[in-house]
Amino acid sequence: MEKNDCEVNTLGLLNSVSDWMAARQEKKINEMETLGYCPDCHGKGFNTYNVYEFYYTNPYDCLSCNGSGSFDDWYENTQ
Ligand SMILES: [Zn+2]
Repeated sequence: MEKNDCEVNTLGLLNSVSDWMAARQEKKINEMETLGYCPDCHGKGFNTYNVYEFYYTNPYDCLSCNGSGSFDDWYENTQ
């Protein structure tokens, strides 16, 4: 019984954290949609945070929007 209670609590915590993350992500996407910007690169058309891609692909093209920086392109590529 004690073990089960612990597992339930752990799952509840994880769920609330992922809910919080999802809500945060959704807020950001809504803001970017209003601006018409790709949420991944903030409309720049490239991103610099993806270290692994740097070695394999063009580091200056945002993969989510094909480098256009447009929210519409991001939406098409990610939905
Ligand atoms: Zn982008």
